[in-house]
Amino acid sequence: MPDLTPKIALEEHFMHPEMADYWATTRINISPDLFDKAHAPLTDFGDGRLGVMDAAGIDIAVLSLAGPGVQVEPNADVAIRRAKLCNDYLADKMRDQPRFGGLAHLPMQDPTAASDELERCMTDLGYQGAMINGATNGAYLDEDQFSPFWERAEALGAPIYIHPANPAAMPPMFDGHSELYGPVWSWTVETANHALRLIFGGVFDRYPKAKLVLGHMGETLPFQLWRLDGRWKICNAQGKTLKLQPSEYLKRNLWVTTSGVCSDEPLKCALAALGEDRVLFSVDHPFEQTKLAVDWIEAADISNTTRQKVCSENAKALLGL
Ligand code: MN
Repeated sequence: MPDLTPKIALEEHFMHPEMADYWATTRINISPDLFDKAHAPLTDFGDGRLGVMDAAGIDIAVLSLAGPGVQVEPNADVAIRRAKLCNDYLADKMRDQPRFGGLAHLPMQDPTAASDELERCMTDLGYQGAMINGATNGAYLDEDQFSPFWERAEALGAPIYIHPANPAAMPPMFDGHSELYGPVWSWTVETANHALRLIFGGVFDRYPKAKLVLGHMGETLPFQLWRLDGRWKICNAQGKTLKLQPSEYLKRNLWVTTSGVCSDEPLKCALAALGEDRVLFSVDHPFEQTKLAVDWIEAADISNTTRQKVCSENAKALLGL
C-alpha cells in the first residue's frame, strides 16, 4: 500500500461510564450485534484505538460522546452536572494523549450554562468545538432561547457539530417502518431539517460567523442547493425574510464530514456544492469501519491536493489545529 495521506477525523466517539444509560436509548436504531460490539472500542483510549488510527493514517481523532447523552436528560441540573463530568473526563484523556481532540458535550436545557460550558471547554480544556445530539428534549437550536448560545459560539469561533439523534416523537411517516429509523434514513431527515431550521430561522443572519458542522456528507443538503433557492422564492414564508439565498448560508456557514459515507458520487457533489475547503474526512468510529473509510478516501477519484484538504488541511483550518 502506498503511503497513507495524513488524516484528522472529526466524528469519532467514546463512552463515559456514567453516560451509557443515555446511549442505550439508541438500541432501537442499531443492530444488537453492532450495539454490543461497540462498547469495548468506545471505552478504549489506549492501544486499541491508537492501533486503528495508526493503520488508517489518522494523526488526530477528535472525540465526542456517543449520543444522545444529556440531550435526552429531563432534569437541567443533572444535565449540567453530567455534561461537565463528561467534559472533564475527556479532557483528562486529551491531556494524556495529544493525538486526541475533543468536541464538548453541552447541557442545552440551560442555554447560558451551555454557553459557559462551551467557553470553559474551549478556553481552559483545549476543546476544538462542540457536538450537540439533535434536539434537546424536543428543543431545536433555532429557538429564541438559544440566541445567547449562538452569540457565544460565534464569539469563540466554535464549530458546532449537530449529530443525528431521534426526535422527541417519531413522525407518522415512519409508522410500520422501523427499518427506516436511525442511520438508514430518519436521522438524515431529522438532522437536515434541523440545519434548515437554523437557516430559515435567521440564525445565520444574526450570527453570520457561526460555524455549523454536519456529518454524513451534509445529510443530503449539498444535493438540494438549487431547489432550496428556487422554491424559497415562491413559497409561503409567512412574512419571513432572509438576507441571502438559502444556498449562500450553506456555502458560508456549513462544513460537512464524510462520516458514514464512503462513495465518490456524494463526495463530488459536496465538494462541488460547498467548495473543496468545506468537506472533512471522518469515520464515525466505532459504528463504521475505519479501514473501509480509509481505503475509499485514499482511492477516491479526486486530485491529491483535494484529498489532502479533505483528509486534514480543512480540519486544521476549521479547528485551529
Ligand atoms: Mn456518529
